[in-house]
Amino acid sequence: MAEAPFLQAISVTKTYGGAEASGVKNISLDIEPGKITAIIGQSGSGKSTLLKLLYGLMSPDAGTVNFKGERIWGPEEKLIPGHDAMKMVTQHTNDLNLFARVWDNVSAMLPSTNVRFKEEKTEEILTQLNMMQLAKQRVADLSGGEKQRVAIARAIITRPEVLLLDEPFNQVDTSFREGLQHDIRQIVKETGLTVVMVSHDPAEVLSMADKLLVLKDGEIIESGHPKSLYQNPLNLYTAELLTNCNVLNADEAKFCGMQTHNDHIVVYPEWIRINKVLKTSRWKIKQVLFKGFYEDLILENGDIVLRIVNDDSGKYNEGDMVSLNIKKWLEY
Ligand code: ADP
Ligand code: MG
Repeated sequence: MAEAPFLQAISVTKTYGGAEASGVKNISLDIEPGKITAIIGQSGSGKSTLLKLLYGLMSPDAGTVNFKGERIWGPEEKLIPGHDAMKMVTQHTNDLNLFARVWDNVSAMLPSTNVRFKEEKTEEILTQLNMMQLAKQRVADLSGGEKQRVAIARAIITRPEVLLLDEPFNQVDTSFREGLQHDIRQIVKETGLTVVMVSHDPAEVLSMADKLLVLKDGEIIESGHPKSLYQNPLNLYTAELLTNCNVLNADEAKFCGMQTHNDHIVVYPEWIRINKVLKTSRWKIKQVLFKGFYEDLILENGDIVLRIVNDDSGKYNEGDMVSLNIKKWLEY
């Protein structure tokens, strides 16, 4: 007999107060074990609703969510909401004891019956999440990012099979975020933990996820590996979620030398190169935005504005007139 799917939603619908344009509609998905699945979508597209349905914090109006072949019970049926094999961390997770040390906050999740095991596990998880140096600090004295690390440590130490993350890194500053993302990937690799995360940060989902699900108005409009979705999104919506792309209408595209029968074309900033700098060229460099090892250049030609990436920092000046070579574009 074939093994039951790991975590699966079948035609799941949930609308709030009967309002058609809320919640999620007819969602079917399969979450692969031991992988990171990211759900992306604009604010209000239904990401948090979907995550709550997967966890059992909410019951669907129609359809079912199954974990290893068994239907997930909703809050009406279960005393402590949320499936026992799963843990969820959001940016609002605030069950930390602010006046206790990091170590005690994390170890408190395990039973005291085996003190040695409890100590070993606590040390293991704090090491995996790079927090041993914080072990003795009071949670109240930590930064927002460090507190989120403690929340994640508390969620993982009980070895859930699924970790659900609802934009938990939102208040975490960028440098801190990357470290945490890397550590979570490492834990997934080492332990086979399954992660379902919600995010609207393209950098985060592209670098972390094994699979992306794109939600729009409560429906999954496409899914796939981050690389293929990035390179060939089926929808303009997806391109705009994943990149800071240039979107032109057909007339504007024609003006730039791209013919299309569709309504829109999309050009990613890295698909445009500067050919040459000549006084007679048509594009004017309006702005040079320094980004460290590269620059964003904002170019203008009449009413049309294009953003491009230039990895040869310092080469161009504001006011330069340049001509462009557009290597690739997408049509929608
Ligand atoms: P996201 O997490 O992608 O921002 P949500 O799942 O929170 O989206 O919400 C999806 C839609 O459902 C939104 O239009 C939102 O306003 C609506 N919604 C969410 N929660 C409730 C609720 N408790 N009552 C009524 N409408 C809600
Ligand atoms: Mg949300």
